[in-house]
Amino acid sequence: MPSPDPRLTGETVELLQTLIRNACVNDGTAASGQEERNVAVLDDVLAEVPREHFEPLPGRRSVVATVEGRDPDAPTILLMGHTDVVPVSPDDWREDPFGGELIDGEVWGRGAVDMLNLTTSMAVAVRELANRPEPPRSTIRFLGVADEEAGGTWGAGWLTEHAWESVASDYVLTESGGMPFDTPDGRRVVMATAEKGIGWRKLVVHGTPGHGSMPYGADNALVTAAEVVRRLSTYLPAARLDDRWRAWVRTLPVDDALRTALLDPDRIGAALAELDPKLSRYCHAVTHTTFSPNVVRGGNKTNIVPDRVELEVDIRTVPGVADAEVEAMLHEAIGPELMGRVDIEDLVTRREASSSPTDTPMYDLLRRRAEAVNPGAEVMPWTIVGGTDASFFRARGVPSYGAGMFSPAVSLPEFALRFHGHDERIDVDSLGLSTQLWLDLADGLAD
Ligand SMILES: [Zn+2]
Repeated sequence: MPSPDPRLTGETVELLQTLIRNACVNDGTAASGQEERNVAVLDDVLAEVPREHFEPLPGRRSVVATVEGRDPDAPTILLMGHTDVVPVSPDDWREDPFGGELIDGEVWGRGAVDMLNLTTSMAVAVRELANRPEPPRSTIRFLGVADEEAGGTWGAGWLTEHAWESVASDYVLTESGGMPFDTPDGRRVVMATAEKGIGWRKLVVHGTPGHGSMPYGADNALVTAAEVVRRLSTYLPAARLDDRWRAWVRTLPVDDALRTALLDPDRIGAALAELDPKLSRYCHAVTHTTFSPNVVRGGNKTNIVPDRVELEVDIRTVPGVADAEVEAMLHEAIGPELMGRVDIEDLVTRREASSSPTDTPMYDLLRRRAEAVNPGAEVMPWTIVGGTDASFFRARGVPSYGAGMFSPAVSLPEFALRFHGHDERIDVDSLGLSTQLWLDLADGLAD
């Protein structure tokens, strides 16, 4: 297997430093992010590669660069990296979160693992492919995409709806894969093949207004809402256990009795309580559709019994549960007598849970590359409990994987700590490994 080229690794390091310093922080407001600044830098890197630009909102600019392959029968591969990052709490960092400094072999800053590391390695690899005398076998598209951190509405969501011909591909590769971790059973490397759906709802709880001086027997919307919240917080819908879960359970440091219980849909609820809390949160989320009541608004005067309270509930569906099933679950959780006083409203565009098959030539190639970098390791598919832009492409039937290649310095637990966390950083070795991965894939589907 070719090893990373130090020249290209150095270019990825420099490009990553520049994008971190641009601080394209997307806090969800229209004026934030201004990803056009990172796109301008990527345009310089990809100056010789044919490009298209899309800017559905001022500043929310995305770029597509395409290197035509030499084999019309080879699949087209889209390398998709977002250019925005999430906000920071600078006081909690040991280094400047937007300094992009290279310290002891690590590049520091917001976006170093989510996901400017991959975005920059993709851009450098695509430029390299374009410069080679012989084109790659596959047509390779690079998409530097805006707005992922606010749900992708003005990035991948918009592009798949309004510019499909420019991004259409046979495979999509994006974030959340290639992290190794060690288990009692040997090393594993994860590749993301699935993610949960987003089914946020607003619950409007109704009551009858009255004077706060006479609460006895009042139809108080806030009291009803409190009971709705309590029921949601204790609701445990049926578990969905799939092959990804079974592979995951094999990696957990637990005894056989607990392992068996975690694989039993009737016993998993009790078994989760026996896990370390750091593990149980993910294990619960990846096996259950979850309901987290996170916002409440209601009441307007201390002496008035409120007749209306709004609750915003973060609902995440597991693959295999359609969004249309969410309402029935809400009815089950809240119960028929209380549901009579609750209206359900949509909050955002919904995203169905999604998954991609592992019996594809691309997954096989990713597996082989990860095994080559991690001899003796087992590569396993896993489910992302948050959302990524992969879902927009899976919704159109395109197999999409969270890929990349990380050194053991960014093991899966370490990755999880740095992802949206303090002291986000990436080692230079990982940057080299990811850059090399994209180069290998461009010709790899020749076998
Ligand atoms: Zn990301």
